[in-house]
Amino acid sequence: MVRTRFAPSPNGSLHLGHAYAAVTAHDIARSRGGTFLLRIEDIDGERSRAEAVTEFMEDLAWLGLAWDEKAVFQSQRLASYAAAGERLKDMGLLYPCHCTRSEIAEAAAGRGPDGPIYPGTCKQRDVDPAGAAWRIDMERAITLVGPLHWIDERAGPQLATPQIFGDVVLLRKNLPASYHLAATLDDATDGVTLVTRGLDLFPASHVHRLLQALLDLPVPTWHHHDLLVEPDGRKLAKRRGTASVADRRRAGEDGKALAAALRDGRLPAGISVSNALHHET
Ligand code: GLU
Repeated sequence: MVRTRFAPSPNGSLHLGHAYAAVTAHDIARSRGGTFLLRIEDIDGERSRAEAVTEFMEDLAWLGLAWDEKAVFQSQRLASYAAAGERLKDMGLLYPCHCTRSEIAEAAAGRGPDGPIYPGTCKQRDVDPAGAAWRIDMERAITLVGPLHWIDERAGPQLATPQIFGDVVLLRKNLPASYHLAATLDDATDGVTLVTRGLDLFPASHVHRLLQALLDLPVPTWHHHDLLVEPDGRKLAKRRGTASVADRRRAGEDGKALAAALRDGRLPAGISVSNALHHET
């Protein structure tokens, strides 16, 4: 039985792109007699707001989307992320790094899906682990597990290429996790069998597949859905001025009608659905 999820980060309001993601995951669960979960990815430090969580839940209810189990919060799972981090350290796969964004940008070894690729500066150095971020030694990790595959139910079988990210951060400064580590661990903990999310996160799945192999986690199937985009092809974002779901709710719109419109592809003027793999520039 399929178990899938919607996993918003409470650092802004939900916009129509989020509503589309939530409707997609919810409808997959409902149409297959499965389970729809809600996970709050609230480990983004000062950017996470408790009010946003209440707002998200009201938004989802207004859209007619009910989740089946108690919502889970990443902020309550830091100990399990830390334990996985220790395990990866014990395997000799992580190294501490104090490089700043600008140092990395200057020496970058090309560009990956998340921006400049880390040039590996701290890998050879004797770095003080106190207050450091911890990066994965990608080459070593890949050599350890060998070739990996994963399946996106829309795009078909994929060969995992986590090296496109270079040595990504798995434990951030002052946090025993990063998005990649936390999301991968949570999907395993919550028994998620189908990871439903936008195409913008398609490349991230290469890293998640690697982490599953390293940490002996079950391997789900993925469903990366199309994205709602602005006329210039960029992913919708609140900062570009589109009305949030909460704005629409408070203005007295009909939420279930909005969800139905998203299902049918009846989108507001200027917004369209794109199946292009999206990279923020
Ligand atoms: N929290 C992520 C976001 O809001 C989604 C993560 C995921 O679905 O894996 O974009």
